[in-house]
Amino acid sequence: MALLKTAIVGGGVLGLVAGLRRAEAGDLVTIFEAGEQIGGLAGSFNVGTVGEPVMLEKFYHHIFRTDRDIIRLVAEMGLDSEMVWGTPPTCTLWDGKIYRMDGVFAAGSPFAGTHFDTALALLNFAPLPFLDRVRFAAMGAKLKFTDSHEGFAGQTAAQWARREAGDTAFERVLLPLLRGKFGDRYSEIAQSWLWSRFHERTQQLGYLRGGFDRLYAEVARRFTEAGGVIRTSASVADLRTGAGGVTLTTQDGAAETFDRVLVTAPTNAFLTMAAGELPDDYVVKYRGAVDYLAAHCLVLSFAESFGSFYWLNVNDAGYPFLALVEHTNFLPASDYGGQHLLYVGNYLPQNHPLLSKSATDILSQFAPFLTKINPRFDAERVRGVHSFAATHAQPVVTADYAERLPPHETPLPGVFLANMAHVYPQDRGQNYSIRLGERMANLL
Ligand SMILES: Cc1cc2nc3c(=O)[nH]c(=O)nc-3n(C[C@H](O)[C@H](O)[C@H](O)COP(=O)(O)OP(=O)(O)OC[C@H]3O[C@@H](n4cnc5c(N)ncnc54)[C@H](O)[C@@H]3O)c2cc1C
Repeated sequence: MALLKTAIVGGGVLGLVAGLRRAEAGDLVTIFEAGEQIGGLAGSFNVGTVGEPVMLEKFYHHIFRTDRDIIRLVAEMGLDSEMVWGTPPTCTLWDGKIYRMDGVFAAGSPFAGTHFDTALALLNFAPLPFLDRVRFAAMGAKLKFTDSHEGFAGQTAAQWARREAGDTAFERVLLPLLRGKFGDRYSEIAQSWLWSRFHERTQQLGYLRGGFDRLYAEVARRFTEAGGVIRTSASVADLRTGAGGVTLTTQDGAAETFDRVLVTAPTNAFLTMAAGELPDDYVVKYRGAVDYLAAHCLVLSFAESFGSFYWLNVNDAGYPFLALVEHTNFLPASDYGGQHLLYVGNYLPQNHPLLSKSATDILSQFAPFLTKINPRFDAERVRGVHSFAATHAQPVVTADYAERLPPHETPLPGVFLANMAHVYPQDRGQNYSIRLGERMANLL
């Protein structure tokens, strides 16, 4: 029997894993990746200053204990002994003060030393009146113990959580987070999405020593060993179907025909590359059906630690960033040649002016706010500054979201579509792209 020629458009986590599984099943697989490197949103850069490369994600990444698919993949790639698990300090900035949002049961308690969940930890959050803390904790417990999101269909997180937790807790805790992540669209976000954040996440976090780049490098190595081909800087500009199969043409005009194609790029990109091939009603229904926000991270390196937190939610209004993540308060700075590494993270509209500014201009704009958080901060002492942006970083998960997603089988024979937007109701993450990649490999 002739071997099937399969193409995957997109060399992010989803495309790499789908590609590996199809190559292992015996297909002749080519992955087309528009960027210079594989990895997509989970891609890394060399943060080292001398010698061997020291890889770090462009955008902060960790996993949860419940992320079973990535934990299994890490083990399959022989890297499980390199996983680091811990509960690095998670904090919130409120009214100029930093509050720790996780906690440990006191000595003498039957759970002594065990970290308690965020919803319970909120019982310690002094800016909320005690009764509001109890109400918030009860809301968190309700979400933790509700096994399915189906009962929340059609409801928005803002309405549901305000009703359950009360106005004060909603406005001081959840509203800044929803607004930070989704901007002006916060009031449209599905309650199912919030359910998943509480229900499926753990306080214990995991990170792969040396970076998740090691995982994807090993996936890519096994993929090529199984006969797969990875083409980077190969943006698919055109997709046509015909009697001989599906022909993909890249931006440089090179064309190749395949038996079937899996597109993992955003749906709008698929509609553009297959323009003229798809029925009008399909294009009208799905063009722009899912909006995305952009993500931006400034990565700063210092000789000394910036703060005492791993994660800081910035809940005070007026700050030009949403969160600070001091990576080296989870992993030791010695893994990075002694550098202390701080992400300054943001979600922004795709046309936000900050996305086109230089790293040093952004640092100058952020510096007064970093000084407010840590009065010892001195921009002159920043050793390295890197700026990363991605336009399709966060789908806007509205209450009617499930109806906005196109099916994986497209109207074109042999052409399948699965992208990060199909991850629902969970917040998108590597785990779910791995799961979807494997499901798509089976479907193919
Ligand atoms: C700020 C931020 C923080 C995050 N934090 C975490 C975290 O802590 N933990 C976690 O697990 N996950 C996290 N994630 C999410 C995680 O990175 C993503 O869920 C995952 O990487 C998505 O992989 P994907 O392959 O589905 O999509 P993508 O990574 O978007 O991959 C799609 C690929 O398709 C390529 N492409 C697009 N158009 C074309 C074309 N025409 N031709 C060829 N190629 C094309 C793109 O270049 C891209 O590489 C975070 C993401 C962001 C942005």
